[in-house]
Amino acid sequence: MSRRTSLHPKKGEKEQGPFYRLFLTQLREIYDAEKQLIKALPKMAEAATEPELSKAFETHLKETKDQKTRLEKIFAELKEAAEGETCEAMEGLIHEGERVIEEVDSSSVKDAALIAVAQKVEHYEIASYGTLRTFASYLEYPTIHKWLQTSLNEEGEANKKLSKLAEGTLFGEGINKSAVNE
Ligand code: FE
Ligand code: ZN
Ligand code: FE
Repeated sequence: MSRRTSLHPKKGEKEQGPFYRLFLTQLREIYDAEKQLIKALPKMAEAATEPELSKAFETHLKETKDQKTRLEKIFAELKEAAEGETCEAMEGLIHEGERVIEEVDSSSVKDAALIAVAQKVEHYEIASYGTLRTFASYLEYPTIHKWLQTSLNEEGEANKKLSKLAEGTLFGEGINKSAVNE
């Protein structure tokens, strides 16, 4: 299933150092992770009870599709095939989301549980894009650094929005408040 990118170039492959190979491997993992999320987010949007939460998942689905396209642009810039490499971490997180959808009955507790999973996903992505962006600057790809920073910012905003939905704002109570009263 997964075709591990070797950290050492094979015969006939582009001569690049091991740090570049590491960068490419991690790009391929996040590319696979985004593709997994494109399939999972519609199910999370459907499972959410609170319309604002459902809308947040749908908005982030659009951003996720842009992030996938952005990664394809990066592969093209590097003259590498846009290939994913199975991201087991994301498989695990999405599996956790599926369990929430199946097993949690109460609507606001389910919403709170969906937010918990989604924030784990966002933190994983924030860590991935943060590292990738830094690697890109060490490898002297300023344009790629900029594109990765854009995705990193989107993930950060998505995470903040989820916190607001859970905790509420000055103007309204959050999902956690309803969950605690259910
Ligand atoms: Fe993403
Ligand atoms: Zn992984
Ligand atoms: Fe995300």
